[in-house]
Amino acid sequence: MDVHASLTDAVGNTPLVRLNRVTDGALAPVYVKLEYVNPGGSVKDRIALAMVEAAEESGELAPGGTIVEGTSGNTGVGLAMVAAQRGYRCVFAIPEKSSAEKVAVLRAYGAEVIVCPSDVPREHPDHVHSVATRVAAETAGGWLANQYDNPANPLAHYRTTGPEIWRQTDGRITHLVSGIGTGGTITGTGEYLKEVSGGRVTVVGADPESSVYSGGDGSPYYVESIGHFRHPETVDDTWPQSYHPEVVDRFERIGDRDSLRTARRLAREEGLLVGGSAGTAVAAALRVAAELTPDDLVVALLPDSGRNYLSKVFDDTWLRGLGLLDESGAGDR
Ligand code: PMP
Repeated sequence: MDVHASLTDAVGNTPLVRLNRVTDGALAPVYVKLEYVNPGGSVKDRIALAMVEAAEESGELAPGGTIVEGTSGNTGVGLAMVAAQRGYRCVFAIPEKSSAEKVAVLRAYGAEVIVCPSDVPREHPDHVHSVATRVAAETAGGWLANQYDNPANPLAHYRTTGPEIWRQTDGRITHLVSGIGTGGTITGTGEYLKEVSGGRVTVVGADPESSVYSGGDGSPYYVESIGHFRHPETVDDTWPQSYHPEVVDRFERIGDRDSLRTARRLAREEGLLVGGSAGTAVAAALRVAAELTPDDLVVALLPDSGRNYLSKVFDDTWLRGLGLLDESGAGDR
């Protein structure tokens, strides 16, 4: 039988698909890695599984334990999925601006949710990270996943995402393009690909225009889950330990308009319904590919599905309200 013994065996080994219609004449082929095909719907299934397994091995997480994290996003879904499948309790501190759908998904997996104010700096006791840290410490058997500083995050990509791309491209990849949230994806995947290729692979960070990662002023932007913006009251920006900045050879800085337009084009012209951060990655990949030759090969990572953003990226009224709708009709065919 061609079966999986458990759901978590179905994490990873996602398809790598060539872009054919949005490439605007670029000579270098661009392939995209479809992370929404993971069973929890995003790239974060990889790190959720890896962080839980590392904590089980170290004894930090034991049977009957409680998984705690400060997130409403894809990592929460991945952790909730693994928790359900392995019988752990699961608690998430989430910012109140999180959409009702996101909260509903976490609860559907049986997770408990604590709603925290969105608009407080990281140092504040009500910030999601402070609350999650406190809940983990005060709960018997509590374990904080802490994706921003957990070495199992980049390691998951070093062990799975990187080798998959190398194998799938038969070692022909020359450029990796990825957004940077916790930095785990670009760090682990990039470090593996550089090592295995003897330094031949160039790693490109696809970053929102004002993100601090690529030297921006930290002002807000709309694409979710990537880049780093600075809360006005934050005194100290520290890079997450999951991000090793030296892995990035160059940045492509992409504005909201370009990211969101590219995400919409991917749905309408390639049949790829993906999120805004995937739009950022592909916009960057297309810029990179435009300067390359047919002997190069660009791979962009697409972290999650556009279904998470139907009321935002794919809603004309929402986009128009922000002045981000491309009224020329380009990408709206
Ligand atoms: N895009 C989306 C939609 C994500 O959920 C994440 C993870 N937060 C990223 C991009 C960034 O990935 P990483 O945390 O590995 O840098």
